[in-house]
Amino acid sequence: MASPYEIRVFGDPVLRNRASDVTDIDGKLAKLADDMLVTMYDEPGIGLAAPQVGVQKRFFVYDLGDDPQILINPVIEASEGEWWYEEGCLSVPGLYWDIKRPKLVHITGLDLDGNDISIEADELEARLFQHELDHLDGVLLIDHLDDDTRKSAMRTLRERFLGIEKAPEKKRKLRLPGKGGISLP
Ligand code: ZN
Repeated sequence: MASPYEIRVFGDPVLRNRASDVTDIDGKLAKLADDMLVTMYDEPGIGLAAPQVGVQKRFFVYDLGDDPQILINPVIEASEGEWWYEEGCLSVPGLYWDIKRPKLVHITGLDLDGNDISIEADELEARLFQHELDHLDGVLLIDHLDDDTRKSAMRTLRERFLGIEKAPEKKRKLRLPGKGGISLP
């Protein structure tokens, strides 16, 4: 079974744009979220932001092992501490970097019923939220690297994603076996 969506990968300009607020929480959005969850579980990943399937709206889906969740128009209200973690991204498959981010975040947003959501998140959950929110702002992992690491990462990315972008058999062939770290969306 094919996923409902192809995940956009590095080099796709949609990943670099700022997404706009969701204005209508309706059946269409619910269907989109469902399809994104199927795509996310297929990978597998633990989160997926709308721009990663080409939709420039501010929401993401995730599942940290409890239940599928959605957060619409999320805002990080506060953050605290710092935590290093090896982070990957479904839009930059097969590559992982140690990245420092705040350890705790307080995030707010809406669910599919339009209810206010407020979550105090720590460690992996906090990391997931920050990573997904980055996608809504057009920010990718490489933007968090220091200059030297970013330069070498860019070389790898250009070879891996841009150089063979036009090859007819792209996509699946690009996928490397996962090695360590959880693939955050
Ligand atoms: Zn990602």
